[in-house]
Amino acid sequence: MTAVNKALVVGGGFSGMAAAIRMRRAGIDVHLLEQDAAWCPLGAGITVSGATLRALESLGLRAAFEAEGYTSSNVEIYTAQGHHLATLPTPPVVGSTVAGGAGILRPTLARIMAEATRAAGTQVRLGQRWTDMEQDGQQVHVRFSDGSQDRFDLVVGADGVHSALRAKYMPEVPAPEYIGQGVWRAVLPRPESIQRPFMWLGSHIKVGVNPVSATHMYLFITEDRPTKEHIDPATWPTVVEGLLRPFTDPVVQALIPHVHSPEAAIDYRPLANLLVPAPWNRGRVLLIGDAVAATTPHLASGAGIGMESGIVLGEELERHDDLQAALDAFHARRFERCRMVVKNSEQLCMIEIHDGDKGEHQRIMRESMLALTQPI
Ligand SMILES: Cc1cc2nc3c(=O)[nH]c(=O)nc-3n(C[C@H](O)[C@H](O)[C@H](O)COP(=O)(O)OP(=O)(O)OC[C@H]3O[C@@H](n4cnc5c(N)ncnc54)[C@H](O)[C@@H]3O)c2cc1C
Repeated sequence: MTAVNKALVVGGGFSGMAAAIRMRRAGIDVHLLEQDAAWCPLGAGITVSGATLRALESLGLRAAFEAEGYTSSNVEIYTAQGHHLATLPTPPVVGSTVAGGAGILRPTLARIMAEATRAAGTQVRLGQRWTDMEQDGQQVHVRFSDGSQDRFDLVVGADGVHSALRAKYMPEVPAPEYIGQGVWRAVLPRPESIQRPFMWLGSHIKVGVNPVSATHMYLFITEDRPTKEHIDPATWPTVVEGLLRPFTDPVVQALIPHVHSPEAAIDYRPLANLLVPAPWNRGRVLLIGDAVAATTPHLASGAGIGMESGIVLGEELERHDDLQAALDAFHARRFERCRMVVKNSEQLCMIEIHDGDKGEHQRIMRESMLALTQPI
């Protein structure tokens, strides 16, 4: 019994791949459309919470993750001068024995999930987009950029924060707006002393590192910038050095020479967020992941909640033979959890921008991390 027999997933990011794997397990004929012919995201690291690890475990990917990523527990918080402020516990997640936190390189996690997506029997179309989509009460008729066409019982839009499906089906939703903060990221060699995430809280700037493998860690720096401006990539290593200099903790100072290496692969992202009110479907087209709930990275959980949505969708389609009943159950399980992540991350961002109460910042972090451990 499933609510649909044949589904198209638009977007092969973490949300779309999780949906494809879980829907295949429900016996659904799944097709996945990804515009990137190489199917490979940017080379930065990604923080994986215990809840995200639990999601990966439910997709059968725990061992693959643990073989190539790095698991740990707790987060160490310091001042810019290296004074230890707190150890934030990463509480164990309910219903699993996975670690409280983890890190991995994005292309590594994407490869692990892409292999699982294909192994599950998903029909993958790379280097293509949809050009036209029309639905009647029964099916969605899709034309593809290679000129072919097909019909599906359900289209799952996992096409990211700039979703073309959202623009088509939810034109009333405004585009995400710049929030006033940007994030710098780089991949650096991991010193033996960094065995879990560390963060240094400065004034209007936060620096952090998180191990992503036996040999490497990734660096992130959140920086307030009142306006969204173009920063010449040729200047990025110098800008990052300038941001790190005031952090006099010797651990941070030791990072500086490495940011000038091409292997650091520095990346800068102006941050934006978006929360589309439920329902996230228009007829037989349902949006998940960043397309409807894009968060700033303050709880490092955007990819995690996107994967969870893909998993819950597969579970509810399997549980019901009526699509509307499956979608109602999906929204009941997903909206509030995604809202919590987007809005609490936004609050953390605002405290940082306005140099607000660091105790309040830690309280929101703690409560959010605890909430994320709850069953989905
Ligand atoms: C700076 C930064 C740091 C972050 N750090 C973390 C972190 O540490 N931990 C965490 O959990 N989350 C983090 N996130 C959030 C996380 O990156 C996103 O939530 C996650 O990648 C969203 O996945 P998605 O699959 O929904 O969308 P995306 O990753 O955007 O994937 C969308 C896919 O759809 C494809 N696509 C788009 N349009 C079409 C089309 N028309 N046809 C075919 N294909 C299409 C794209 O090529 C892409 O592959 C961070 C985000 C930012 C900005």
